[in-house]
Amino acid sequence: MIVIMTSHAPRSSVDNVVKQIEAAGCKAHLSEGQFRTIIGCVGEEGSIDPDHLASLTDVEKVQPIMKPYKLASREFHPADSVVEVGGGSVPVVKIGGAHAVCIAGPCTVEDREMLDIISQHVKQGGATILRGGAFKPRTSPYSFQGHGEDALRWLRAKGDELQMPVITEVMDTRQVAMIEKYTDMFQLGARNMQNFDLLKEIGKTRKPVLIKRGLAATVKDWLLSAEYVLSQGNRGVVLCERGIKTFEDSIRYTLDITSVAVVKTWSHLPIVIDPSHAAGRRDWVGSIALAGMAAGADGVMIEVHHEPAIAKCDGPQALLPKTFDDLMSKLRVVAGLWGKAF
Ligand code: PEP
Ligand code: MN
Repeated sequence: MIVIMTSHAPRSSVDNVVKQIEAAGCKAHLSEGQFRTIIGCVGEEGSIDPDHLASLTDVEKVQPIMKPYKLASREFHPADSVVEVGGGSVPVVKIGGAHAVCIAGPCTVEDREMLDIISQHVKQGGATILRGGAFKPRTSPYSFQGHGEDALRWLRAKGDELQMPVITEVMDTRQVAMIEKYTDMFQLGARNMQNFDLLKEIGKTRKPVLIKRGLAATVKDWLLSAEYVLSQGNRGVVLCERGIKTFEDSIRYTLDITSVAVVKTWSHLPIVIDPSHAAGRRDWVGSIALAGMAAGADGVMIEVHHEPAIAKCDGPQALLPKTFDDLMSKLRVVAGLWGKAF
């Protein structure tokens, strides 16, 4: 349930409600808006009496949240969330609200030289976060699996040099602490969206995470995965629609543009789209990216390669640097229609 405080309720009243929630063995999560604070009370059903909370000073009302995801819901946090990525050795990049993000780079960090070339290009083209896989979830065990910690070192050094936050995929709970040292944002891959232990471990850190939608997950499942991270106290969650399996076989995955509208209604979390993994081929990436931004997404994740023919992973879908630049110019226009800027 949520406890909605009266407008400009003093801190002491908020603290008192939190105290009562915690005394009942529940967790209190604060959503501090411009005018009022909403307190999310999460715990076992029946452990706290709503009438008791409603009787406390400066409580306007107590409302149950019917949705299975609570902290991810719009009811708990009516305004769009803005997630901050970076800080420390690189500037902060904001995602959500008026802040659109472009996450770009290679599928996987193949070597230092290719990372040099591609990162320069994407930075010049307007990308604000640099991506690159160090641990790759490959369908075949015989495909390139990533350079692991070496790749993380190269990615970190490049991010620091170009003053861009970096994002990389974490596949296993055993990798969380190590990857946390190098990255500014975790990427939770589509195949791991319901790896609940991994979600909990990421939730215990204070690094933001991009949660990719599972290949066969509903929007509700996806928001429940977000809830795992949020319920551990990590508020830095961004969703990423990357295409789902449907009966359509003309394209690798169907990018569910409608999920952008649905997420924006049900949740306050930012959502970006990844047209690269949906399309699987570069000539379809642009139109899908533009469609996602037109639907109201908070940004894009795009794979870029200067020599896709020799890429170790996902070459056919990688945009050439020049095509990436052209797409960014168009994306800026569409983002502007929603009052967003890259
Ligand atoms: C990726 O971003 O390189 C990737 C493997 O994505 P997904 O988990 O969406 O397949
Ligand atoms: Mn890829």
